[in-house]
Amino acid sequence: MSRISRFRLLVALLVVAIALAPLALGNFSVSLLNDIGIGTLVALGLVLLTGVGGATSFGQAAFVGIAAYSTAWLTTAQGLSPWLGLAFALLLTGLSALAIGMLTLRLGGHFLPLSTIAWGISIAMLFGNVDGLGRHTGLSNIPPLSIGSFSLADARAMYYLIWLIVGLAFLFSYNLLASRPGRAIRSLRGGSILLASVGADAYKVRLALFVLAAIFAGLAGWLYAHMNRFVSPAPFDVRASIEYLLMAVAGGLGQLAGAVVGAALVLVAKNALQDVLPLLTQRAGQLEAITFAALFILLLHFARGGLMGFLRRITKGRFQAPQSADKLGAPATPLPHRELPRRGTPILSVQGAVKRFGGLVAVNDVSFEVNAGEIIGLIGPNGAGKSTMFNLLTCTLPMTSGQVRFLERDIAGMPQREVARLGLARTFQHVKLRPHMSLLDNVALGAHSRTHSGMLKAGLRLDREEERQILHEAMKQLERIGLADRAHELAGSLPLGTQRILEIARALAADPVLLVLDEPAAGLRRKEKMALGELLRKLREEGVTILIVEHDMDFVMKLVDRLVVMNFGSKLVEGVPAAVRADERVQAAYLGSVA
Ligand code: ADP
Ligand code: MG
Repeated sequence: MSRISRFRLLVALLVVAIALAPLALGNFSVSLLNDIGIGTLVALGLVLLTGVGGATSFGQAAFVGIAAYSTAWLTTAQGLSPWLGLAFALLLTGLSALAIGMLTLRLGGHFLPLSTIAWGISIAMLFGNVDGLGRHTGLSNIPPLSIGSFSLADARAMYYLIWLIVGLAFLFSYNLLASRPGRAIRSLRGGSILLASVGADAYKVRLALFVLAAIFAGLAGWLYAHMNRFVSPAPFDVRASIEYLLMAVAGGLGQLAGAVVGAALVLVAKNALQDVLPLLTQRAGQLEAITFAALFILLLHFARGGLMGFLRRITKGRFQAPQSADKLGAPATPLPHRELPRRGTPILSVQGAVKRFGGLVAVNDVSFEVNAGEIIGLIGPNGAGKSTMFNLLTCTLPMTSGQVRFLERDIAGMPQREVARLGLARTFQHVKLRPHMSLLDNVALGAHSRTHSGMLKAGLRLDREEERQILHEAMKQLERIGLADRAHELAGSLPLGTQRILEIARALAADPVLLVLDEPAAGLRRKEKMALGELLRKLREEGVTILIVEHDMDFVMKLVDRLVVMNFGSKLVEGVPAAVRADERVQAAYLGSVA
């Protein structure tokens, strides 16, 4: 059986098992399963946010609380329908997440998790101190849900609603990950420079993901309020947040299924502890907290991948979900191409570029021009400032002074992603690929700025035609660099030299006017270098302009139309390869240094 059909069979079996479970189980087990379903929703948001997106939240229970309190207040104090409560709860949760996200998501490093603890505590405190929300006693007499005249007051009826919503949330998340916004989300861990280089805004991607995770928590909160018919501050405090995070970690942050596995693990363990601990001590509550803390530490030490990671290892990835929908077929129309400037027209002009790093002048008053359809080589000994020059003209780094014009526009000081959107695509000297994404997905990320589908469209699978276009384009670029037959392998499995070539395919997927390559031939064997040279010449014929840093002199000399030589941050010489090779100053600069 193929991997995909095995995966489908497993999912179908799960669905049947979930549908039949209440028939075989007692009331206690059914309400435990209800709690597990609710926990799963929150944990699923955390798997996406923390596991996939790399942003840790210690405050997720606060979003559950905002939703639970919103619907509780609307249905008790205002006497409105719980279904209006749902809309109100999700709206308030989404808006709170948006506000909190805008305040905190730009914080780097440890500040983000720390800030989540802060707002987690404040929101839980708020619930306990507002008169309208019942202070510490909370709100009771929340009406049960009903569909028409059919009441869902019974735990078994709630069970089906909860698990239906869990199922839909999984479907949404699964669709999302294999889509345009999903690829951006999966690239967040690669850093904002990687995303900006394909024209995406890492902050916005992270913000949208943060709101989505909060909406999942909000759904959980709404279900919680109408299932328990009573809300009080305690279940939404930081301790609860940590429990949700523990679910996600225990199940396995790397996989969606980790959410349900983790929720089950933690809640079953908690139940067992609550039975056993009172027999051992009178302070069972404290001991429970300590036990969970110890469990957390053990997990982080010995089982980072959680239970799912462990299962995956023993099944050798046989039940792994496919990466990207590759059986989509050809699109009705391929992605449109931009019109390339006429050969010979100036497209890039650098004037008096200067970059200082403290006292070091890495680029010192460098000027040069690039015309459409040329291949220009930028060479110079190690540390000459070539990579820095690339970072300046792609706006990856701000310039200390100077001017850069690209396609008649002054781009100095422009955000990198906007420059990328204008048609300036680059690769990196230190490869920036997502090792756990397939070759196809890595290249498809390059087409980000040419396409539009957002998270909602992707989650609901309304993006299929565009997705076909993107994958078709990505496949075309993979064929171009000769890696089409390995499209579904993970990028991390390629040798470093080949990874550089893959970066070129990603850059090409952006349909660039100017391609900026930082040492693309490093680590390639002779034959591979020749193939790369062929590819670059072919691109030039097609009208793509190329700016290249390369150490291999033979390779560059045969390839380029013109060379700019840098030394100690300054421009030394500029000219055709033969003249540069003969120049005494160049020979002196290279004497004793490896070219
Ligand atoms: P090349 O690519 O030509 O080998 P680079 O542009 O990487 O050279 O580096 C030029 C000089 O600038 C080097 O001396 C390097 O140490 C310094 N440099 C580069 N990036 C930074 C940075 N972010 N901070 C401080 N110094 C840097
Ligand atoms: Mg360099």
